[in-house]
Amino acid sequence: PPVMASEKEAALAATPSDDSPTIFDKIISKDIPSTVVFEDDKVLAFRDITPQGPVHILLIPKVRDGLTGLSKAEERHIDILGRLLYTAKLVAKQEGLDEGFRIVINDGPQGCQSVYHIHVHLIGGRQMNWPPG
Ligand code: IMP
Repeated sequence: PPVMASEKEAALAATPSDDSPTIFDKIISKDIPSTVVFEDDKVLAFRDITPQGPVHILLIPKVRDGLTGLSKAEERHIDILGRLLYTAKLVAKQEGLDEGFRIVINDGPQGCQSVYHIHVHLIGGRQMNWPPG
């Protein structure tokens, strides 16, 4: 894939309707190395390669099951969606984010989504601002 100047550029170049494998499949299969901070049978959590804070972790379902993004969620995904958020809370605790943290799910081009395998961003370790960019 081309080298992207920015996350926004990558997001705008991504193809939202694409149901083909993503880089996260290779992270799940360990064909691409990542720093895993939590793993169970359903969820994998690893450090983002371009951290937006002292702590920046991505939480993903090990099986995508059509969940390319939150906008594609169906009733069958309710359990995994809840599990991703609950796991984010566990990982936040494990990372010592006792003063708070930010959870983000980017969706679609306007949401700056660049990888079409749903993922929860857990960002912390610094003061956040509002509104986001
Ligand atoms: P999105 O922009 O919400 O789709 O988030 C995708 C995230 O995946 C970005 O924050 C990227 O930095 C991150 N990312 C892309 N490739 C890798 C990788 O190989 N390892 C870890 N994180 C990655």
